[in-house]
Amino acid sequence: MIRRLEVDVAIIGGGLVGSSAALALRGMGFSVALLDKGFCGAQASGVNYGGVRRQGRPIEQLPLSQRAHAVWPRLRALIGIDGEFLRSGHLKLARDEADMASLEAYAEAVAEQGLDLELIGHNGLRERFGWIGAGVVGASFCPGDGHANPRLVATGFAAAARRAGVEVLENTAVEGVTRDGEGFALEAAGNLSLRSRFVINSAGAWAAPFAESFGEPVPLSRIYPSMVVTEPMEQVMSVNIGMEGGGIYTRQVERGNIVVGGERALPLNDPDFSRPRGDGAIAIMNNAAALFPGLRHAQAIRFWSGTEGAMPDKNPVVGPSGTTPGLIHAFGFTGAGFQIAPGVGEVLAEIVRGGETQTPIAAFSIGRFSKISARTGAGSGAGQNQEPHYRGELRP
Ligand SMILES: Cc1cc2nc3c(=O)[nH]c(=O)nc-3n(C[C@H](O)[C@H](O)[C@H](O)COP(=O)(O)OP(=O)(O)OC[C@H]3O[C@@H](n4cnc5c(N)ncnc54)[C@H](O)[C@@H]3O)c2cc1C
Repeated sequence: MIRRLEVDVAIIGGGLVGSSAALALRGMGFSVALLDKGFCGAQASGVNYGGVRRQGRPIEQLPLSQRAHAVWPRLRALIGIDGEFLRSGHLKLARDEADMASLEAYAEAVAEQGLDLELIGHNGLRERFGWIGAGVVGASFCPGDGHANPRLVATGFAAAARRAGVEVLENTAVEGVTRDGEGFALEAAGNLSLRSRFVINSAGAWAAPFAESFGEPVPLSRIYPSMVVTEPMEQVMSVNIGMEGGGIYTRQVERGNIVVGGERALPLNDPDFSRPRGDGAIAIMNNAAALFPGLRHAQAIRFWSGTEGAMPDKNPVVGPSGTTPGLIHAFGFTGAGFQIAPGVGEVLAEIVRGGETQTPIAAFSIGRFSKISARTGAGSGAGQNQEPHYRGELRP
């Protein structure tokens, strides 16, 4: 038996991006269906490191990141839980003078963006963060950044959306989307036939085929960041830590466990899934212990990885389709979508409501790739879209 449903907005993907958009749209009075092929928040949004950090982002992401920054302290009012969000500050370490120069240049470039970065020299670091070992020459501190528990936050947004009246449809993979008259027709698992005026493509690492089917091929690839967590330790690590130029990143949760990220896992035969490399987990812990002597004898109790959609220019795609009115994309957050997602959700809802947003998102337009595909001839646009494409309408 076919189940039929009609809503204003259909959202493909119940990660933090889709769930926060669903909640924001419902708050504006739209009827919304949030569809996930598995469980909401079970992919990248629920298994990530938990860094809630603006520091280090490309400058064009900062207005959107600042918008999200305003949402995080309001989580309890918004979704009923605080998601263990802690505004601990984010400390980015420099291993040598070149790293320090790079941190100084970044602080200067973003001076007007409201991050309030503080550059800390070698002695200041010893005084304030004595638990950091030798081999670090300085750091940049962003006091307003922090960390949170991704397992609570991602599902918390979906649960709040459901309570607000969103049709949350889990284990309901979207199998096809076509433009249909003034709106869209979606076919989904479980014989669900859904009609909507708008579609949001927030399918994370799985978003590219939906974009391509509307004539918008994107160079979305997959990355598999790797994480380790230790047994509970004495509380020492008061801030969320990153490293200039990459390496490990680490935070300590209230219960004492220390989460350390770094390295990349390997995809399994089914590239939807991955497994951390054993030597990767050892490398993460060795690198962490070299920086933080207190970790030398820590027991790692678990390691894991997740599947994340990545773009070659490290910026996501956020904004209206360039070919199809009513279609809006939001994917490709390249390892940094957790902090920014609640702001993206608000922006997506504004685009549905009025066709635009006050937050600058031009840098994230999907149109930046259509130029490439026009040159290479990639992506004919053939696919699930049965209707003529609405080309040339690239809204800001
Ligand atoms: C291990 C790891 C560590 C990370 N650490 C951080 C960090 O510290 N800070 C930070 O800011 N970011 C971090 N990130 C990145 C961040 O987690 C992601 O950018 C963000 O969660 C992306 O959210 P999303 O909603 O776009 O994607 P997802 O959470 O992946 O959600 C997409 C959803 O779409 C669903 N879907 C796919 N296809 C279909 C379909 N056909 N029909 C219906 N549903 C479908 C999937 O099931 C999935 O639930 C990390 C990522 C990983 C993997």
